[in-house]
Amino acid sequence: MVMDAGTFSPIPEDLILRAPKVLLHDHLDGGLRPQTILELAAEQGYTELPATDPEALSRWFTESAYSGSLERYLKTFAHTVAVMQTEEALRRVALECAIDLAADGVVYAEVRFAPELHVEKGLDEAQVVEAVLAGFADGQRAAVAQGNHIRVGVLLTAMRTASHGRKIAELTVAYRDKGVVGFDIAGAEAGYPPTRHLDAFEYLSRENAHFTIHAGEAFGLPSIWEAIQWCGADRLGHGVRIVDDITVEPDGSVSLGRLAAYVRDRRIPLEMCPTSNVQTGAAASIQTHPIGLLRRLGFRVTVNTDNRLMSGTSMSNEMSLLSEAFGYGLNDMQWFTVNAMKSAFIPFDERLPIINEQIKPQYTALKAVLAERMTGGVGNGAA
Ligand SMILES: [Zn+2]
Repeated sequence: MVMDAGTFSPIPEDLILRAPKVLLHDHLDGGLRPQTILELAAEQGYTELPATDPEALSRWFTESAYSGSLERYLKTFAHTVAVMQTEEALRRVALECAIDLAADGVVYAEVRFAPELHVEKGLDEAQVVEAVLAGFADGQRAAVAQGNHIRVGVLLTAMRTASHGRKIAELTVAYRDKGVVGFDIAGAEAGYPPTRHLDAFEYLSRENAHFTIHAGEAFGLPSIWEAIQWCGADRLGHGVRIVDDITVEPDGSVSLGRLAAYVRDRRIPLEMCPTSNVQTGAAASIQTHPIGLLRRLGFRVTVNTDNRLMSGTSMSNEMSLLSEAFGYGLNDMQWFTVNAMKSAFIPFDERLPIINEQIKPQYTALKAVLAERMTGGVGNGAA
């Protein structure tokens, strides 16, 4: 019997790395290289870092992030944000982000950051945005020089605990033809419902602009409901708690509540971040992460990194964990990847060639590589 290479699991790590991946939910201030944090801190005279060598610093970030609390998790950002207060620093961090994602096989990424967090040393929000866009342009060129192609779009985030939503939304519209592709709100969810920034969302809708909302991570269904039905979110950041509206009977039959059914019917993309969700306690483990059930039920699920530094992760690592936990093969990985590309905020006619000319042919080629490896293995055994 010939095994199907598309369903073979776990997917070999080298093939996961080579496979094209699409990332919709990644925070710029959550993905710095530890060495870069140390160098920027030294340049800027920032002395609060909890470690002085890259390994120890990296360990400190992941350990702090495994606290099980979203609030404490968010505190790790004080250090990364502290060293991202100049144009040079922002540009460098964005450049390295694009290079690192491209080296991990990411072909399209939407990376988000909150301009309002980077104005402590006198930059204004527009200067922050321009420095980051310049860094991503540098990074995309540098990636090509290394043989990797990546396109990076920027999402501007407003902190849900603050009141700059409308201003950041206006900045999103002002820069939408220059590399900014959408808007988001992030930060502590409990007590700060999405409707707090309703004027920003109404403005964006009137301007035909795209936005996603962090919802259903630390807080439950009401947050998801507000994000979709009051604010009109195109996508949900995490959305893990949508499983609270799904009932699985002992016999395995499943029934969806009205909200879960709406999310699935309308094909609302869920930006799921498995490792991050385990770290903040939004999911108990990778093995029990709702992504398994939601994928089975055909929700528009996507796989993301959230904060690569704090979670010690990458797109390849997230895919690898899911392949191990749920038996996913290259077919599943391709499904997640196409889902993500369909859900991107760049124009439809720019998404299609990435799906049809990059993603699909490359997965087909990788399945052929795996099939050959599998039959090659049989041949060797017989010889
Ligand atoms: Zn996030």
